Amino acid sequence: MNTTIDLRSFKAVIFDVDGTLVDSERHGHRVAFNLSFEEAGLPDRWDELMYGQLLEVTGGQRRIRSYLQAFGSDPQTAEAMAARLHPRKTEIMRDLIASGSVPPRPGVARLIHELAACGIELYVATTGNRAWVEPLLDRHFGLSRFAGIVTGTEITTLKPDPAAYLEVLRISGQRAADCIAIEDSGAGVTAAVAAGLQCVAVTNDYTHHHDVSSAAYVTRSFADLTR
Ligand SMILES: [Mg+2]
Repeated sequence: MNTTIDLRSFKAVIFDVDGTLVDSERHGHRVAFNLSFEEAGLPDRWDELMYGQLLEVTGGQRRIRSYLQAFGSDPQTAEAMAARLHPRKTEIMRDLIASGSVPPRPGVARLIHELAACGIELYVATTGNRAWVEPLLDRHFGLSRFAGIVTGTEITTLKPDPAAYLEVLRISGQRAADCIAIEDSGAGVTAAVAAGLQCVAVTNDYTHHHDVSSAAYVTRSFADLTR
């Protein structure tokens, strides 16, 4: 790993969203979870440090359930609370995105512009909800930039399962060898590699300790990927 990698040698680049295109965990999801707790009259608030630990559980509804159980709720109560809170959290997340509170990671917009200018097809493979993913992509990059967008609304099996990536390969008609994925996390890299893709890991403060050793290239900065 970490020789060099030229994204322009691939026909398609497939982006993760959470933590990759946007620093959505810290500024988006965490805030939305807390606002949903506040609205529901719950005393719970997730600070940045605790949220870093909670991110070990993928999927928002599973994350709430796991947290409630860790703090003493029985499984049925935790499941019912998570099922009630999560849809509202998704609405709040959509509102945060609409208000511009969740900016792209530095260097992402430039990379997307450069790849599109080279005629490389751009895809998204996320297990985030389409209700907030599409407005986010549209606001920062323009939906028309993307040849295909696969979200958690269609693919409910979470990463590290490769299902989202396999769906991108299906809709794009591209061979895995002609595509490369960009991820920020261990689970994301594992999902991409399990789908037969090469993967670049652009880690962030929440994921720099993850095992991304199966990535073809690892960096902390998108500046390494632009010209
Ligand atoms: Mg991610």
